[in-house]
Amino acid sequence: MSVPGWLPLREELRDEEPYGAPQIDVPVRLNTNENPYGPSAAVADDIAASVRAAALDLNRYPDREALALREVLAGYLSREAAGIDASRVWAANGSNEVMQQILQAFGGPGRTALSFAPTYSMYPEYARNTHTRWVAGQRREDFGLDTATAVALIEAERPDVVFLTSPNNPTGTALDPAHARAVLEAAPGIVVVDEAYAEFRRSGTPSALELLAEFPRLIVTRTMSKAFALAGARLGYLAAAPAVVDALRIVRLPYHLSSVTQATAEAALRHTGELLAQVDALRAERDRTAERLRSLGLDVADSDANFILFGTFEDRHGLWQALVDRGVLIRETGPLGWLRVSIGTPEEMDTFFAALQEVM
Ligand code: PMP
Repeated sequence: MSVPGWLPLREELRDEEPYGAPQIDVPVRLNTNENPYGPSAAVADDIAASVRAAALDLNRYPDREALALREVLAGYLSREAAGIDASRVWAANGSNEVMQQILQAFGGPGRTALSFAPTYSMYPEYARNTHTRWVAGQRREDFGLDTATAVALIEAERPDVVFLTSPNNPTGTALDPAHARAVLEAAPGIVVVDEAYAEFRRSGTPSALELLAEFPRLIVTRTMSKAFALAGARLGYLAAAPAVVDALRIVRLPYHLSSVTQATAEAALRHTGELLAQVDALRAERDRTAERLRSLGLDVADSDANFILFGTFEDRHGLWQALVDRGVLIRETGPLGWLRVSIGTPEEMDTFFAALQEVM
């Protein structure tokens, strides 16, 4: 992308590209960690009826505080941790917007945000957009956190915001609660645990929600994009202390969450059981995919998410392209030589493996 010289764009944005994986129209799309199972006709009907009711009121602004929705989200999170009510929940257009609001409130000029690479590549972009200094530490070879290194970096950089990701994207690695605790004890500011893929974690893997009561500067973010199969609706949310939620209400745009979005999310949440029913199937397919990749002699990162990082390939771009040529789109991301595949239906995974074996 080239921005014409006459356009008074911020200098540091001149050479930037818009973020995003290629949206290529091929039969098997396993590149953005979407849920391959769309909402059922019954869920779609409920969403349509709820949106119709909201439409009759579209001359009015939506509930600025999205209170009804936050109450339902709090109810959902309460299955995993006690003491979460609407005053501790905040929602926005995707967890992308939630995290940008976090940096608008707690980052900014003269402030620092920090994370541990390889991790979600949007974090540095939120930092750039909010004029927050960005520091990237490194994960271990096995993509876990090295606590001593992490704590030393936090003590040296004194970050205002730390992003931990569990399960981590693109590696699938869940955060060891002892490591989360060490970071929370060392960090002088906000610690965000991004749990976009939490529902896919293996049984026995705890959520950072359990640490909320103990650490008032902890924020746990979630999304309806993955487990709830609602990526198109754009609904992300968080749980935190009420004071954190109030701070975010200062920087949010008025009426940021449309009444159509709120109605859609509330309708979907009435079908939580049905929408989450596919999560177990996807977890089983994930474990099966890991075994199949290993049986091809590949390195596979242990995954608690709905995707798997595998490798390593001398020419990963060539392999990625050869798969695209066979109608299978995966993601060229992560450390050099690795590729990431999202978990699709069993049929989609069979097509992926047939193509992979052909090109390897
Ligand atoms: N966090 C992580 C780790 C992600 O991988 C993603 C999406 N790929 C997001 C947050 C953002 O998701 P959304 O904005 O759809 O909620």
